[in-house]
Amino acid sequence: MTMNEPRITIAIDGTAGSGKSALGSHLAAKLGYLFVDTGAFYRALTLAALRADISVDNGPALAALAQTLDITIAPPAVADGRQFTLMLGEEDVTWDIRSPAVDAGVSPVAAQPEARAALLPLQKDLAARRAVVMVGRDVGTVVCPDAEVKVFLVADLETRAQRRRQELAARGTDVSSIHIAQNLADRDRIDSSRATAPLTQAPEAIVLDTSKLTLAQEAAKVLTKVEAIKNTLSKE
Ligand code: C5P
Repeated sequence: MTMNEPRITIAIDGTAGSGKSALGSHLAAKLGYLFVDTGAFYRALTLAALRADISVDNGPALAALAQTLDITIAPPAVADGRQFTLMLGEEDVTWDIRSPAVDAGVSPVAAQPEARAALLPLQKDLAARRAVVMVGRDVGTVVCPDAEVKVFLVADLETRAQRRRQELAARGTDVSSIHIAQNLADRDRIDSSRATAPLTQAPEAIVLDTSKLTLAQEAAKVLTKVEAIKNTLSKE
């Protein structure tokens, strides 16, 4: 990004395993924006809760725990396939937040309004500071409702489960596709039906089915929109 370019926020939401991080980190690298995966905040809180033996549905205790945590997200510090580095205090928990235990606990944690209220300011603050590609479930609706570009990703469950299985296998974790598909479906159900900031498509979002498109095709569609908005903004 150059100094004179208008600053654009790109919000990408969608179902679990729909390819938000792959597209988001790709676009961020292309545009020179910061990639922020908001799911990582909920995962970090879930990891800390599991370690502290705090129940995943105890909203007030989760919020109190969140206030004690120092969660930071930064560009990848190690070339091991990660899209960002997530620090919990001094500890690099980038991979710990991807464990099956965190997969199982994160949606119940994220359904607690108190937990969301504790994590939302961190996300809003990151988006306010610089140009970001931010991915999650409520980015286009709650975290960055004024984002210039909003994208909503979907993909069929089988494709999502296969992709997730391959990602886990690449890191030496062998989980069956059926087990993964069940977790993805459970999370979608909890994330879409919760009362606070449910997973919903912003009406103005570009909808992309990532089971039918390549990453290059998805990126091209979003970049066309980014260019059009830059042109409009630079004329204002
Ligand atoms: O994106 P990822 O699958 O890592 O997100 C993990 C979980 O975090 C989601 O299933 C959802 O419960 C929660 N989440 C959320 N709001 C966001 C991002 C993630 O509730 N903006």
